[in-house]
Amino acid sequence: MIASQKGTRDLLPPETRVWNGVERTARGVFALYGYDEIRTPAFEATELFVRSVGESTDIVHKEMYTFTDRGGRSVTLRPENTAGVARAFVEHRLAQAGGVHRLYYVGPQYRYERPQKGRYREFRQIGAEVLGAADAATDAEVLVMLFDFLGRLGFTGLSVALNSVGTEEERPGFVEALRAWFSSKEGLLDADDARRLEQNPLRILDSKNPKLAEWLADPSLPAMIDFLSADSRRHHEELLALLTSFRIPYRIEPRLVRGLDYYTRTVFEVTAQGLGAQDALLGGGRYDRLISDLGGPKTPGIGFAIGEDRLLDVLPADTRETFLGEGSPQVAVVPLGPEDVAEALALAAELRRGGIRTDLDTSAKGPGRGIKGALKKEIPLVVLLGEEERRTGTFVVKDLATQKQDECPRERLLDEIGARLRPSQAT
Ligand code: AMP
Repeated sequence: MIASQKGTRDLLPPETRVWNGVERTARGVFALYGYDEIRTPAFEATELFVRSVGESTDIVHKEMYTFTDRGGRSVTLRPENTAGVARAFVEHRLAQAGGVHRLYYVGPQYRYERPQKGRYREFRQIGAEVLGAADAATDAEVLVMLFDFLGRLGFTGLSVALNSVGTEEERPGFVEALRAWFSSKEGLLDADDARRLEQNPLRILDSKNPKLAEWLADPSLPAMIDFLSADSRRHHEELLALLTSFRIPYRIEPRLVRGLDYYTRTVFEVTAQGLGAQDALLGGGRYDRLISDLGGPKTPGIGFAIGEDRLLDVLPADTRETFLGEGSPQVAVVPLGPEDVAEALALAAELRRGGIRTDLDTSAKGPGRGIKGALKKEIPLVVLLGEEERRTGTFVVKDLATQKQDECPRERLLDEIGARLRPSQAT
């Protein structure tokens, strides 16, 4: 037997119904906010991620699936989707149309990480990007949409952790302060962290070295927020005021930097209980230089990516049940013998035209087997079809939960079944 690859998994029915429900909800909510879907390739030139995500990030440094293709090009399975969206935006000159571009994506991403609960090598993200708007109101609207989405999925009690990482110009002062602070803590940094502090000092703030954790919480550690320019500070404060007025629960986390290099100003993360050590449900931020760094016109941007695998791990039980129910068959048509199958096919087709999700068991092994099969699949209603039904045109509709059964002429069958199904199922 050939097994699936480490860190990958098959999503099987009925669980796929829950995935579809979540994605349907995302698409519906995002459309309400004026977003359109973008689909970019699962692999890109390695260079794209090196230049956007950043050479010294963990992702680029040690987590990419990079290989040389048969044409000798270095390609990489996308570890995230913002770089691909930005590349497409530049390549197709979308900026020329002017205005603000709101795009979303749903799809698998690849990182060569050590698999554990909530962390896979192939995982899925639902993300959105706004390109062409630099104002704090856009940041606020992105978070409002995110909480609208999470709220519709039944999440309560979530809050967003927020920080501002400033702009490129504002960082040198902070970096200097950070280096000075760590240089007074001799022996604290391992080789990896020392390299980070040298090459890309902000990365040290999301170091996973347990020895550092306590130090990173030290109140004397310099905070980027104290090094912001007046403009960046105003942006940050405007955002906070808007979030307050929209009742989006937030808390400032001065150490939050996120593991990608392209962020400027606003960064955010939502964590959720029940996810274990990998508790980040989603993350995002503003990236005002990414498009121009990739050769496009100066275009500000902001976006987020939700870890769909993790979202499903903590999805409220009611919502899960609803999504499971929405995909399941509502009625089983059970032909009693082989000679009843053709008529059963016709009846099932009629019910399906009427929008009823109909299961048909063509094995025709009698009523007992048929009902047992329907019970196993948790189908609430059964219509038996035998010689008598064919002759009289009258059918019996059996409710498997109540055992109640009613006779019904064929022309009223659709209405009768529709009325029997609970409103939530009659879609
Ligand atoms: P990032 O692209 O690193 O900002 O991550 C955004 C979100 O994707 C995280 O908050 C996680 O929910 C999810 N995520 C990142 N890496 C993984 C992984 N290896 N397995 C599952 N989910 C992940």
